[in-house]
Parts: sequence; structure tokens; C-alpha cells
Amino acid sequence: MRKGLIQVYTGDGKGKTTASIGLAIRAKGQGFRVCIIYFHKEPKRWKYGEYRILKKLGIDTFGFAKKHPHFYKEVKKEEIRKECLKALEFIKKIFEEGKYDLLILDEILISLREGYLKEEEILEIMDLKPKNLELVLTGRFLTKNITDKADYVTEMKKIKHPFDKGIMGRRGIEY
Ligand code: ATP
Ligand code: MG
Repeated sequence: MRKGLIQVYTGDGKGKTTASIGLAIRAKGQGFRVCIIYFHKEPKRWKYGEYRILKKLGIDTFGFAKKHPHFYKEVKKEEIRKECLKALEFIKKIFEEGKYDLLILDEILISLREGYLKEEEILEIMDLKPKNLELVLTGRFLTKNITDKADYVTEMKKIKHPFDKGIMGRRGIEY
């Protein structure tokens, strides 16, 4: 049986989500069943470049807590937490069903940073992970306990980012 580990892509530089998509494509190419769960992203609205192509490749994508408070001032914190908890239930169901070989939780560490999820809830997901499933967490936030439980922790460290000189996100590069 294949051994599944836990990976974390964190840090303030570019590349966390794109690295996880690269991994998703590699794994799919080896016949893995791959799923990406997005937190706080609304693929339909923002038309991320990867969204449709992932579908075409047969990589399943799901979104939870899609309305990011940064863009929607009216959304209530309790509502977002509720949706994040729904995501956790969904993830546990995936674990029980053994439906995937690679599961990516994109920006779940932002849910933690913003207080929508608690650290122990994420640690529980890491503990419940089936042995043969590879689990990836992304987001520019990290705790000691998550680091301790993970097998790979990679920090994308910003040396420069064009945003700092006023260059906004570019289509096909940032989304
Ligand atoms: P990418 O999706 O390009 O791999 P990321 O997942 O590492 O980036 P996030 O922290 O999720 O980056 O940031 C969301 C958006 O902000 C992305 O479009 C990303 O390219 C961009 N970004 C990444 N790092 C920075 C930074 N230091 N300053 C400003 N914008 C950034
Ligand atoms: Mg990202």
C-alpha cells in the first residue's frame, strides 16, 4: 500500500497554491485520484486560470466559505466559521470513503489565521488522515503543532514581489 504523508506550503512569497496544483497534476498523471478543496475562494466569480483545466483533467474541486470577508464586508464571521466546519465534515467523509489519493486543502491555514477554524480542528484532520492519503495544507500562516505533525513543511519566502511596487495580480500568473 502507498504511504501518504502530510505536506504544508506556507510563507509570504508566491507559489503555495501553484505548487499544490503542480503536485495535483503530477499525481493525476500517475493515476492518483485527486481532490482540491478551496477555502475562501470563489472560482466561478474570479475565474482562476486553473479552475476549468483541473476539471478537464479529472481533478475534482470544491469550494467552501467562498465569500472572503476582504471582498464582502457584509458576511458575518459566524457564517464563515459554519461553512468552514461544513468543509471539515466534508473532509472527514472523504477520509471515510477513501475516495482520493491526494487531497489539497488550499488556504486552510488562512481559515486558522482568521479564526474561522481552531488549531485543534486542523490537528484533528491531520490525525484522521488515512494512512495512504497524501494531504496538503496551504496558506501563509503556521503553528508549531501543525509543523510538528506535518512531514514536509516548505516556506515560500518572499524576497521580492511585484505587488510591492504596485503591480497588481496578472491574469494567467496570479489567477
Ligand atoms: P500562487 O497562487 O501564485 O501560487 P500563493 O498561493 O503562494 O500564490 P497566496 O498567499 O495564496 O499566494 O496569495 C494570494 C495571491 O497573492 C496570489 O495571487 C499570489 O500570487 C499573490 N501573492 C503571493 N505572495 C504575495 C506577496 N508577498 N505580496 C502580494 N501578493 C502576493
Ligand atoms: Mg494561495
